[in-house]
Amino acid sequence: MRIDVVSIFPGYFDALELSLLGKAKQRGLIDVRVHDLRDAAHDKHRTVDDTPTGGGAGMVMKPEPWGEMLDGILAEAGNSAGAAADAEPGAAGDPLIIFPSPAGEVFTQRMARELAHEQHLVFGCGRYEGIDQRVFDEYAARGRVRLVSIGDYVLNGGEVATIAMIEAIGRLLPGVVGNPESLVEESHEEDGLLEYPSYTKPAEWRDRAVPPVLLSGNHAAIESWRREQRIERTRRVRPELLPRELRGESRGRHAAE
Ligand code: SAM
Repeated sequence: MRIDVVSIFPGYFDALELSLLGKAKQRGLIDVRVHDLRDAAHDKHRTVDDTPTGGGAGMVMKPEPWGEMLDGILAEAGNSAGAAADAEPGAAGDPLIIFPSPAGEVFTQRMARELAHEQHLVFGCGRYEGIDQRVFDEYAARGRVRLVSIGDYVLNGGEVATIAMIEAIGRLLPGVVGNPESLVEESHEEDGLLEYPSYTKPAEWRDRAVPPVLLSGNHAAIESWRREQRIERTRRVRPELLPRELRGESRGRHAAE
């Protein structure tokens, strides 16, 4: 997968050199290219923002640097959106441009799985009050654009949101995580339940014992205990995630205890 990132703080993305994603980069599984938006700002101060038209607080990112930078990336990638104005918008294999935004659709594990099938993602990191709306409109008219939020809170910029998305998507790419089975058992995967609590050795630590069932060697009992834990944890922490068919399961048992 190729990933281009545009930001006025390229240094944020040094974090992608670490750990599993860093190794995936070294092994050529992910090709991440980070671009400094200011390289497309040509005045003395390399200005990328201006006051909001119509008034209001803060500054808005100017469309011209974004246009130059994104045109360059799309043209270099040799795709229809960048190469020709009359090309079919959204043709298969075209880059998908993602603008992190608190006003976007919410990023989920399901979306991560969907995006892991893309060949080329471009992330445009906003700062200040965000990016001039015409940038979104321009590239949505020429190809595929999504505004994506990583949660209902406001960050200072799109960099941290982009890193979160790249990590969630990247670890789903074949070969990035050593044991693919570990991806299946996680929270938000498969049946949407949260993961069960995990333990390792020693069997007792500071008078806290590992639940005896995990030491029993009885795989059916362990599986059943873990499922129960998943349901209970989901019910307690994120009841809205509990599938309808599970809403009655295990509650009766606990009520009787
Ligand atoms: N004025 C914008 C609004 O109210 O929607 C918020 C701008 S925010 C201060 C600056 C940038 O941070 C945004 O353009 C976006 O790139 C990023 N950002 C902030 N919160 C985010 C979130 N929850 N998810 C994704 N990106 C976010």
